[in-house]
This record gives sequence, structure tokens and C-alpha cells, in this order.
Amino acid sequence: MHELSLALNIVDIAEREVKKAQAERVTSISLKIGECAGVENDAFDFAWPAAVKDSVLESAKKDVKTVPGKAKCLDCGHDFDIHHLYDPCPDCESFFKDIYQGKEFFVESLTVI
Ligand SMILES: [Zn+2]
Repeated sequence: MHELSLALNIVDIAEREVKKAQAERVTSISLKIGECAGVENDAFDFAWPAAVKDSVLESAKKDVKTVPGKAKCLDCGHDFDIHHLYDPCPDCESFFKDIYQGKEFFVESLTVI
């Protein structure tokens, strides 16, 4: 499952940060996930406990911030809000667009002790 590997990736990042800070574990982690990052939030939440089990993130509080999707149509130049990767332009229904916001997926911050 795609979401599980993403969660495991975050565990890797957290393990590295904890090591770097010579800390013990992570108390809270804040993630930014774009609407068009191709991540199913439900699947991600479902994968999370399995991914963090026995890791530095096991008891961490997880906070997810959703980044709204924004795209510019490459055919008519219309700027629009996009909620799914494959949504067409609402003006001309073109599928050619440049998603300039909403594809992010990263760790914004984490707190270690
Ligand atoms: Zn358009």
C-alpha cells in the first residue's frame, strides 16, 4: 500500500532527526499534505499505527495540515481550486493544467525529547 510506504518514510525521517538531536523519541509531529499529493487521508491514518509501532513515533501526536490544491489551466489560463489530481479545468474542461500548489507532502516540524 502506497500510504504505508509514505508513513514508513516519515518514520525514517523521524528516526534520523531523533538521532541527530540525541533525543529519545518524538512527542509531536506536524505534516503537510497537499490535496493533490495523491495521498488518501483515510488510508494514511489507517497505515499510521502500523508504521510507527516500535519506532520513535509510536507515542507521538500527529497533526496533519491539508494544503489546498491550486492549478492553472494550460489551455485557457484559468486559475482554479483543484481538489483531485485528475480534475479538469472548470471553465473549458481541459485536463492540461499546471498544479502549482497542493502536491506537497512533507514533515513541517517535529518535537523530540
Ligand atoms: Zn481551461
